[in-house]
Amino acid sequence: MILLNDVSRVFPADPPVHALRGVRLRVERGDYLAVVGPSGSGKSTLLNTLGLLDRPGSGSYLLDGIETTALGDGARTRLRGRRIGFVFQSFHLLPHRTVSENVMLAELYGGPPRRGRRERAMAMLEKVGMAHRAGFLPGRLSGGERQRVAIARALLGEPSLLLCDEPTGNLDSGNTEMVLDLFDTLHGQGLTLLVITHEDAVSARAGRRVRISDGLLTEE
Ligand code: ATP
Ligand code: MG
Repeated sequence: MILLNDVSRVFPADPPVHALRGVRLRVERGDYLAVVGPSGSGKSTLLNTLGLLDRPGSGSYLLDGIETTALGDGARTRLRGRRIGFVFQSFHLLPHRTVSENVMLAELYGGPPRRGRRERAMAMLEKVGMAHRAGFLPGRLSGGERQRVAIARALLGEPSLLLCDEPTGNLDSGNTEMVLDLFDTLHGQGLTLLVITHEDAVSARAGRRVRISDGLLTEE
């Protein structure tokens, strides 16, 4: 579903930063891939490229057979809304909105509101084991619970690809296990997962591991 061919990304600076250098990567539907590498090696740049938030400077990126580098901004945004979910280290939940509102708000970015938004949000919260906290504000949840809500939000548009940037970076080991168990379940249901991590406990659960070092990607 993902095919990167010779993708490079240079950030203008003095000297220029070569964040990605000739990256080749193939990810099949249903893969569970961990990306490891030191700070500043290009992991988030790779994730932002795969998530259509950033364009490669050169090279090609096929997502489900679509050459994304040829698309305009609007088409990229629509493609992202239909296929891709994001999970971040810092959850990004709105503090003054309830759990269910946080999940429902995800659809605002995917197009006009559709009927049954609340029902879909509740179904996703059920899926991540958080339906019983639907009316809570995020501040009253544990870290692992917050991340599960963020995952429910990411899943609302029924993406085929979930991109996670250090999803357990702010969690203790118990909460990390909780999130990893959820990833296993989602993977078992056919979701394609790509997880950036520096924790062995996380990458050990993935089926495959790639390493980035100074913008160069190697298979492990
Ligand atoms: P970390 O583990 O610390 O999150 P990372 O592997 O995710 O690091 P990236 O965020 O991908 O690293 O950054 C790769 C390199 O590109 C770094 O040297 C960073 O300073 C640089 N970089 C990232 N974004 C920009 C930008 N917008 N402008 C200039 N340089 C950038
Ligand atoms: Mg990063």
